[in-house]
Amino acid sequence: MLHLFEKNSELFVSWALVRYESEGISYLLQITAVLPDESRLQIRDYLFPDGNRKYAYYWMEPDGQLRRRWDNAPHWPAIATGPHHMHLAGGELPVQSTVTNLEDLVAFLHEWFAATGSVHTEAVIEYEPVIGLEIHAELLTESKMFCSCLVVDSVTAAPNTAVCPICLGMPGMLPVINRRAVEYALRVALALNCEIQPHNVFARKNYFYPDLPKAYQISQYEQPLARHGWLDIELESGETRRIRIRRVHMEEDTGKLTHRHEGGSLVDFNRSGVPLLEIVTDPDLRSAEEARVYAMKIRQILRYLGVNSGDMEKGVLRVEPNISLRPVGSQKLGTRTELKNLNSFRALAEGTAYELERQAAILQAGGEVVQETRGWHEGRRATFSQRSKEEAHDYRYFPDPDLPPLALAEGWIAVVRAALPELPDTKIARFQQEFELPAYDARVLAEDRSTAEWFEAAVAAGGNPKGVANWLINSLFSLLNEQKQSLEASPLQPAQLVRLIALVDDQTINQTSAKEVLAEMFQTGHAADKIIAARGLDQISNAEALAPIVEKLLANNPDAVAQYRAGKTSLLGWFMGQVMRATQGKANPTLVKELLQKELD
Ligand SMILES: [Zn+2]
Repeated sequence: MLHLFEKNSELFVSWALVRYESEGISYLLQITAVLPDESRLQIRDYLFPDGNRKYAYYWMEPDGQLRRRWDNAPHWPAIATGPHHMHLAGGELPVQSTVTNLEDLVAFLHEWFAATGSVHTEAVIEYEPVIGLEIHAELLTESKMFCSCLVVDSVTAAPNTAVCPICLGMPGMLPVINRRAVEYALRVALALNCEIQPHNVFARKNYFYPDLPKAYQISQYEQPLARHGWLDIELESGETRRIRIRRVHMEEDTGKLTHRHEGGSLVDFNRSGVPLLEIVTDPDLRSAEEARVYAMKIRQILRYLGVNSGDMEKGVLRVEPNISLRPVGSQKLGTRTELKNLNSFRALAEGTAYELERQAAILQAGGEVVQETRGWHEGRRATFSQRSKEEAHDYRYFPDPDLPPLALAEGWIAVVRAALPELPDTKIARFQQEFELPAYDARVLAEDRSTAEWFEAAVAAGGNPKGVANWLINSLFSLLNEQKQSLEASPLQPAQLVRLIALVDDQTINQTSAKEVLAEMFQTGHAADKIIAARGLDQISNAEALAPIVEKLLANNPDAVAQYRAGKTSLLGWFMGQVMRATQGKANPTLVKELLQKELD
């Protein structure tokens, strides 16, 4: 079994997880046999007894001595992100053994190492993943790229209803460039820090396929819209990586084929000619996880820019990673394979991880990776060969004689740049600074633009930023998920949430009631005050009203009172629950607690 570690890109031969319990502390040891020709073993431990992460690093030498090194090595955390290692190749790695003393641990290691060592005798070359990504994004224009046909929903619209002689590829038809599509493409190129090429040329990419009636796709080749951009991505470890964008170009989408079980295929040309943007990275990504994070961020930016819905199930955003391995230290790229048309982040992460393992196994066995295009089989969770990969020259690109070169005026580029919205990274930084929000809150709120704007509207309506953030993250998001609704589509207004929070703060209602009220506001858009009055939810916050209830409860439960006074103070929660029940949840919990303690202690 070969396992490729994503983070530090080394190839290991075997690994195990052992739980080591000592003096009340549980260590999770990840044990990896490395480079068996050197007969050494490394152990990393991850210790979280107090929420702090600590690291230790051990070697087992050939003489069986266990040596410990690098306690809390400062450079180590970037590498030792446990979950990354344990999620590889699908699924958690099971804990193989639990030991409670060092001798047993050493005995286990000897046994395990002997078994492992006997299997692997050859030297292992370390490989690193090299991954580039092409993302195809349909642009949210009203009409198609080169004709006036409407862009319709490819799932719900009746097939072949939004078509004309131009997008059906009839001879003699003349395409005309959609200005709005160019503007949308330009927004993306600018947001991705690209150099804009003012002189654009559309080219014909020649190939035949039943979903392409012209037998060529209008695309951009030698003179694309933009080059040399970059995007920073933040990994789970907190590390930031800059991914270079090689090019951003405009093209048109093809029709859609449906293969029928009973034989034959159906073609729908509604999608034919829909504006499509292709965003291509340099091969800068080093793991399946990085590829996933990058693709998610591109989707977020496209949605911020209002140029793509991000609805991957409908195929408006498709990801194609090209994947290879090369020996660590080598600058030469290995032979790559390309995964086509992945339409979920999960498929991207799993497909890429699978492909890296598949290639590693081939290379370790002394074989050669074949350059080809592969598909991802969702059911089998495996990649499969589709066809051998074409080279660019196979497409016989040439400038489309029907379309003059497109010159972008500097003034227009400046206008589009000036109208760009605030992008996620800037917004997150501003939320932390301006509203003193924790990084986590800022990130969650800025996840999509409409939520971020809703949040800001609530703050503008007088809400305390952290209070509003808490209500959004802890209560409103779960309502949105339950109801499968967006904040925008809900009748709830930001100022109404601010009012509700004020009613909790001045103790008119308690938290539990407030959550019920919020759920109703979310559904109906009614004001909090109106709902509270209608349901009689005003909190009972005066001691005179609550004291008789507390007294009655204690009188009726002498056993529980005795137990409490004998030291079973955990019963306080039970008493509180009884008072809340007796008041239909309307009692002020702080006051109830005070009254109970006064009576009991
Ligand atoms: Zn058309």
